[in-house]
Amino acid sequence: MNNLASYAVSESNTRGRIVNEAPPSGRSEFQRDRDRIIHSKAFRRLEYKTQVFVNHEGDLFRTRLTHSLEVAQIARSIARNLRLNEDLVEAITLAHDLGHTPFGHAGQDALHQCMKAYGGFEHNLQSLRVVDILEERYAEFDGLNLCFETRAGILKHASRKNARNLSAVGERFLLNQRPSLEAQLANLADEIAYNNHDVDDGLRSGLINLEQLQEIDIFSRHWSAVKQKYPVLAGRRLIHETVRAMINTVATDLTVQSARNIADTGITDLSDVYAAAPLIGFSPAVKKAQQELKRFLHEHLYLHYRVMRMSNKASHIIQRLFDAFSANARLLPDKHQQKFKQIGHQAIADYIAGMTDRYAIKEYQRLFAVGQTD
Ligand code: MG
Repeated sequence: MNNLASYAVSESNTRGRIVNEAPPSGRSEFQRDRDRIIHSKAFRRLEYKTQVFVNHEGDLFRTRLTHSLEVAQIARSIARNLRLNEDLVEAITLAHDLGHTPFGHAGQDALHQCMKAYGGFEHNLQSLRVVDILEERYAEFDGLNLCFETRAGILKHASRKNARNLSAVGERFLLNQRPSLEAQLANLADEIAYNNHDVDDGLRSGLINLEQLQEIDIFSRHWSAVKQKYPVLAGRRLIHETVRAMINTVATDLTVQSARNIADTGITDLSDVYAAAPLIGFSPAVKKAQQELKRFLHEHLYLHYRVMRMSNKASHIIQRLFDAFSANARLLPDKHQQKFKQIGHQAIADYIAGMTDRYAIKEYQRLFAVGQTD
């Protein structure tokens, strides 16, 4: 890729792949990573995994797949403006949710509870496990054998205890270093995407309404501006124009503020990025506005009683599945039984985390519904 900033991750400063491979022809190393992610089984499963609304609640709500595509879109635009490695940013964003359980955060919390005695469960670690170990596609290695910087970008957080078991990719948590600017950007593009699409999905679902949102500064400001420009506009178009304008404001702010941070710090290469404070960030005003919106969504959408009822069902399903497999591993399909013999309860976590929402519901019925035979 031409025109990359000197502090961007590139093919000349990458720490490379665990298993050495011949260089790709006709595409970059990071394009190859992105392509491997898109062709993976875990990526296709994202279509049927929940972000907030369970897949069968409606065809228009975001799924983890459409969420990941929106994150990639936002992050790529900003990466190009900051002369960062757009291919790496795309690979990280498309892979960032691969390790999520079915049923969103309720599923992850339930699986973490179940796995407490066996090391716990954390979706970031699981995303790395998917691309490093669980995908079975290549003759010469397990997983996708992605570049170090793609893997490091996927691993957003790690406790010191977990970091110690992760060798090179966990090092930065022990050395208190920052990830690449591409990874920092992927993380904040995730936040921009979900804050805004949850406003859109929340309104579509009827769980939140426009009157409530008028109290939120960033929403009401953009809403008024759109109304002023298009006085007769109403309904979905008015909402879309408002959400579009909010995304534009925060994405532009992130670009401008980050460029300023980079210039002020005077970094020149990738090692400077690792040693510096986080440089990709919002201005204080937009950060505050984002926090206000987040708090609103938390209280009025994520904790809405109808979302909580679904979360409650989700925890129940995950717990019952885990308990059944844990009490009798012979209930596991053959392949997972074999793995259970080698790695114990982690095999159950891998099996459950890999399930889509609808697969988990079906598996629950197969195990517990009387008269269900297959
Ligand atoms: Mg995400």
